[in-house]
Amino acid sequence: MDRDTLCIQGGYTPKNGEPRQLPIIQSTTFQYATGEEMAKLFDLEESGYFYTRLQNPTNDAVAAKICALEGGTAAMLTASGQAATFYSVFNLASCGDHIVSSASIYGGSYNLFAVTMKRMGIEFTFVDPDCTPEQLNAAFRPNTKAVFGETIANPALTVLDIEKFAAAAHAHGVPLIVDNTFATPINCRPFEWGADIVTHSTTKYMDGHGAGVGGAIVDSGRFDWTKYPDKFPGLCTPDESYHGVTYTERFGLAGAYITKATAQLMRDLGSIQSPQNAFLLNLGLESLHVRMRRHCENGQAVAEFLQSHPKVSWVNYCGLPGNKYYALAQKYLPNGSCGVVSFGVAGGREGAARFMKELRLGAIETHVADARTCCLHPASTTHRQMNDAELAAAGVSPDLVRMSCGLESAADLIADIGQALEKV
Ligand SMILES: *Cc1c(COP(=O)(O)O)cnc(C)c1O
Repeated sequence: MDRDTLCIQGGYTPKNGEPRQLPIIQSTTFQYATGEEMAKLFDLEESGYFYTRLQNPTNDAVAAKICALEGGTAAMLTASGQAATFYSVFNLASCGDHIVSSASIYGGSYNLFAVTMKRMGIEFTFVDPDCTPEQLNAAFRPNTKAVFGETIANPALTVLDIEKFAAAAHAHGVPLIVDNTFATPINCRPFEWGADIVTHSTTKYMDGHGAGVGGAIVDSGRFDWTKYPDKFPGLCTPDESYHGVTYTERFGLAGAYITKATAQLMRDLGSIQSPQNAFLLNLGLESLHVRMRRHCENGQAVAEFLQSHPKVSWVNYCGLPGNKYYALAQKYLPNGSCGVVSFGVAGGREGAARFMKELRLGAIETHVADARTCCLHPASTTHRQMNDAELAAAGVSPDLVRMSCGLESAADLIADIGQALEKV
């Protein structure tokens, strides 16, 4: 089925007389007639529900829809995008292991990798996403377990050369994990370009209405862990904490990775999405294909307007010919990238702050990918403790405004931006 149909019909197919809308199974626990039946679930001998910390039918239906949209074989929901990122890597790497990551990733992911996971004994090497294949290959070590990148990085808006990263990962016998939050499977399906695992912050476009924080992990089922049993003992040798199950043997390549992440990590760390939030996420997914087109149209129209405005010193949007990532965007995102545009306002820090103050439609928020247009001036908010030199080192210029174009009329957005720029 086409992605437009999967957004509506994927994941949940009611049987005769069952609810047409996805039911919210608001139950922590599930009942069985005999202890033996439940024991089989605990031993992973049979699949079924017993406790919502591990699995819930509402969540599973929504995960199945996201799985179908990405073209994967198995998927799970997590309580947040951060949890999805953490699980996706920690499911493969433990103390003493190493990961190669694009340096151009979400700030929260960077912090998780460079600070928190480093404290757990996992080392990260950050590479320039625009590096040569030789530079990329040089980042690998014998204990490297995965490569990580972001389709369209938040907030730098760099476009990942997925094929380049996948080729390097596979040459070293490890999978490529791609955070596909900004592109969504509507605009890019990383599996089609060689990625092995995809993660999402569903908080952004998938929800799309600022209603619920959430995350998802999808497995392509294509990475053959059994070729590298020494690298991935967690998938290829018995799990003593699960009665000696070997995930690749019991669940095959299609199911091993997600089953391990559910049975082991979700069991022990418990970052499950609530069924209520999964229901809201599903409502968002039902219009994702329609909304993404509009977000991209508005992003493109706003970027073109800004580019022609005398009070705007630069515009970063990969849909603009001349942008550094235009060619990569045409290849990987031919139908549009996302609604997020960043640009510099004349007058530096003061000019940008004044511009934001004068906006009427664009609300000031530390959020993106919402139906309502929102914007952020990092130099006066998220990065306000930094001076201009420190900002430059962080890749944030004092004049930078990040605008997430919502679903309003492009004409109204442009009129609003125009009147605010006049006052700068
Ligand atoms: C927001 C975001 C995250 C983190 O997701 P949360 O749902 O806020 O935990 C991860 N990756 C990207 C690209 C994001 O934009």
